Amino acid sequence: MSHPLIKLENVRRYYGEGDTEVRALDGVSLRINPGEFVAIIGQSGSGKSTLMNILGCLDRPTDGAYTVRGEDISKLDADELASLRRETFGFIFQRYNLLASVSASENVEIPAVYAGLGQEERRSKARELLARLGLGERTGHKPGQLSGGQQQRVAVARALVNDAEIILADEPTGALDSGSSAELLTLLEDLHESGRTIILITHDEKVAARAKRVITIQDGRILSDTGDQGGHDEARESYRYSRKGPSPVAQVFEAVKMAFRSLRANLFRTALTLLGVVIGVSAVVAMLAIGQGSQQDVMARFESLGPNLLFARPGAPGQRMRGDAIATLTLQDTEALAELDNIVAAVPSRSSSATLRVGSNDVRAQVEGVSEDWPTAQNRGMKYGTFFTEDDMDRRVGVVVLGTTTAGNLFNDPQSAVGEYVFLGGAPFEVSGILEEKGATGWGQDQDDIALVPITTGMMRLFGQAYLSSITLAVDDTDRITETEEAAHALLMSRHGTEDFQLRNTASFLKSMQEAQSSFSILLGSVASISLLVGGIGVMNIMLVSVSERTREIGVRMATGARRSDIMTQFVVEALVVGGLGGIAGVLFGLGVCFILAESGMTIAVTAMPAVLAFTSALGTGLIFGLLPARKAARLDPVTALASE
Ligand code: ADP
Ligand code: MG
Repeated sequence: MSHPLIKLENVRRYYGEGDTEVRALDGVSLRINPGEFVAIIGQSGSGKSTLMNILGCLDRPTDGAYTVRGEDISKLDADELASLRRETFGFIFQRYNLLASVSASENVEIPAVYAGLGQEERRSKARELLARLGLGERTGHKPGQLSGGQQQRVAVARALVNDAEIILADEPTGALDSGSSAELLTLLEDLHESGRTIILITHDEKVAARAKRVITIQDGRILSDTGDQGGHDEARESYRYSRKGPSPVAQVFEAVKMAFRSLRANLFRTALTLLGVVIGVSAVVAMLAIGQGSQQDVMARFESLGPNLLFARPGAPGQRMRGDAIATLTLQDTEALAELDNIVAAVPSRSSSATLRVGSNDVRAQVEGVSEDWPTAQNRGMKYGTFFTEDDMDRRVGVVVLGTTTAGNLFNDPQSAVGEYVFLGGAPFEVSGILEEKGATGWGQDQDDIALVPITTGMMRLFGQAYLSSITLAVDDTDRITETEEAAHALLMSRHGTEDFQLRNTASFLKSMQEAQSSFSILLGSVASISLLVGGIGVMNIMLVSVSERTREIGVRMATGARRSDIMTQFVVEALVVGGLGGIAGVLFGLGVCFILAESGMTIAVTAMPAVLAFTSALGTGLIFGLLPARKAARLDPVTALASE
């Protein structure tokens, strides 16, 4: 035995509860056979739209049974309802409900997208339908460029694109002038002729008169029914399970296309959101490159000191006073330290800024008093002449060794400067040699802008102090550097009786610098991450706005067969596109900033890690911050969504 196409049995739909309860449908029983042309007429508020929403599976009855081709729809889940809508019903609304941002043809294609039809097939089908409805010239027009009658014909084409068996039209002529109304009714009659079931809802008797069967409703009840006037018995064979909707790949592909389109539709807003992500991502890229660069820089600087040095400074550990103001280290300490095992050289040092003069040429430079072992400890050779000797030290001779910069400042021809005299603190110093060039340190200090004198001479004539500001010890076997450091510590302890000095080695220097540097990098990184987070919140904000703004669009998509997952995918993909675009632009911008900084002389260490990290974080923020709005969109009730302004 065959089932009626549509069967309602004592269907009720109540809104609200208690005092505010509204019985929009109050026990409606109805059968509609395939091929009927039914008008449902009633006054405003009589329950027509509520009935249509239930018939179209956009809404469920509070009570009573509704079956389509014998299938109880109360047993179907949201996705099954979506596919039933997609394949059985074509909706025509009073207010057309077209998507404003896409062309007529693309509007018509929407239900076919959700049915999983390929793009070519979809497009030709939409064009053909529009042409048949007299809109062949208007396929590329946006709804805003069409008249009301034309828009409603686009909506009819949309209702037909999936070859729906039942056309549900809720006051389709309500917004049309009489000419367009007449055309539309003729169109519905033609569709009826071609075998479709038409359910036309109206409050207009003249419109209702065009139908073969008229059902009058009032206060949610059927008042009269002219009865079944024709139609055929057999419901068309269902292809319900032949089309399962788009494959996940097609779903994502369509979603990406739609995402770009909707982002383009709000170009300015999109640009602002992107800006947030771009700033966040480029901050991460640039900040980490700067942090790493400065780390490398500092490391290189300390490594250039050599791994074989120990430094003794005056002042107790933790004492925060300038070393050269503390009088604890002496030349005798240096001599004692030099006797220790594994020590190649022990170099005392004290320096002060002084004026060097040759003729009328005054040059201010850092004059450092050191011992004859300085070249060994510092691993520096001579360019011209010789370094001063132990004998010069002992006799406190007035000799000076110049760096190339200082020599260049003082003499026209540094090569011939050896043997010349320089006045320093009012006394003549003979230039014994010019040091090999070393260049600038990482922090820009010129290592060639120096003048070295025997420390003994310096103490006597320049510094006015018999104490040292540091002792540098060069060790022979670096594997034993800790042992040597301990020996030096013990020696100084026994000489001073108290720990009024500090000993450091390059390794421990490196370590503490490294620690300082990595906390610097972490700081930069967190600042950058915060800006990325802010960018992500921007994405969420814009997605939420987008969902609220497009609630009606979501309703239309659902009515035309979109599953929750289609809606979810659409919004998640949109957020991901924002995140991804922002990520790419941010990485490029960050690299640009790095390039400019590197050009301006800063040490920048660009590695792939921060870029990859920042890009994935941008995608991740897009995803995380897009999920909530997407879920919100997917959970919308189709009826509520459609009713929204
Ligand atoms: P019609 O389409 O015939 O004008 P409706 O089906 O839209 O009538 O509404 C029927 C009754 O149900 C009206 O009294 C209306 O106020 C009420 N109603 C419709 N939708 C809702 C809703 N979402 N919440 C509460 N009441 C509603
Ligand atoms: Mg209505």
